[in-house]
Amino acid sequence: MSIILKPGREKSLLRRHPWIFSGAIQNVDEEPASGSTVDLLSSDGGFLARAAYSPHSQIRARVWAFADEPIDKEFFRKRIRAALNTRNSLLVSQDTDAFRLIYAESDGIPGLIVDRYVDTLVMQSLTTGSEFWKETFADLLLEETGLKNIYERSDADVRELEGLPSITGILRGDLSSIVFPIVEHALRFNINLESGHKTGFYLDQRANRQRVRALAKDKDVLDCFCYTGGFSVNALTGGAKSVLSVDSSTDALKLCTENVLLNGLPTTRHTTLVADIFHALRKFRDEGRSFDMIILDPPKFAPTAAQAEKAARGYKDINLLAFKLLRPGGVLVTFSCSGGVDAALFQKIIAGAALDAGVEAQIVERLSQDVDHPVSLHFPESMYLKGLVCLRQ
Ligand code: SAH
Repeated sequence: MSIILKPGREKSLLRRHPWIFSGAIQNVDEEPASGSTVDLLSSDGGFLARAAYSPHSQIRARVWAFADEPIDKEFFRKRIRAALNTRNSLLVSQDTDAFRLIYAESDGIPGLIVDRYVDTLVMQSLTTGSEFWKETFADLLLEETGLKNIYERSDADVRELEGLPSITGILRGDLSSIVFPIVEHALRFNINLESGHKTGFYLDQRANRQRVRALAKDKDVLDCFCYTGGFSVNALTGGAKSVLSVDSSTDALKLCTENVLLNGLPTTRHTTLVADIFHALRKFRDEGRSFDMIILDPPKFAPTAAQAEKAARGYKDINLLAFKLLRPGGVLVTFSCSGGVDAALFQKIIAGAALDAGVEAQIVERLSQDVDHPVSLHFPESMYLKGLVCLRQ
């Protein structure tokens, strides 16, 4: 099966970008089955790459290989092994037992995400290609890790764009419990594989939570969008004077309190508040409250560049209010995980927020996703998490 591209549309493939959009396609010979392997050919018929076909998505094909080689179980074994070796050599530290093993395009396997939580693998299939090979991936993962359990969390919204239904549940093994604690840099967090966000936890923020731990000593900390308390628990561990954890989800805050207790931290220094952050920050401003450290880790406001403008307004609003609530010498730790907002735009938004808040601030540190979420040089879209540590003067 092959797909012929329009003249000139082979350029991105020659730079090793793994996506082909529907508009670049001249001709599809027969109609390949969803997720099946197709050859991508230039307009003059030359071989460019071998890819997975996605009939319903704007991203019509995702590349498995740029070489003329068979796409089969052994091909994927090599890719999976390489990803596992990278994780070992990166030394995701010994006091951590939850990390990402496979990060889709960045590891040469578009659509496949695999996270390890203690002895359980959580697998997320996002595309028709990864769905086509799902059982093979599951077999390979067990063979290559020696583990027995795989839980599937193929419930991300992007599956809809691929015409795929939401699927969750045990894929291999017989998990005795879907709720259990993981260890992250010697702190414990309860994970729920069934209902936790993403595959259960925000693993990408691991290193940044450690930074908050290091910076929190003797501070009054406000953790906005705290979810299950990743930053709050670290701030308390780092010796924060007080931590106020705010989220709109009652369930998340219950887990947040549980995680504070799980680590033997003093509940007297910790308070939770169920609220919409946009309202809560305004209320704090009106009440004249202030903090030494504010963390802003909102959900994705702009999944794609099309929503960037609306997202920018949201980011500016919360950051402006946060700057106003920050005491002189205070620290703002602010994030964006929106793919549609790049690092330069994010910094511009934060600069605008400080200006309109009437405060002087400087960037003292730039943060990103942790080492187990590598960024492919050929696929800049894999870099999505941006963080700035700003010091108010
Ligand atoms: N900082 C967390 C991850 C944050 S995820 C960690 O490191 O684990 C985003 C969180 O924002 C979710 O818990 C969600 O419930 C919450 N949320 C989304 N919109 C919100 C809003 N408008 N106000 C308050 N919380 C919100």
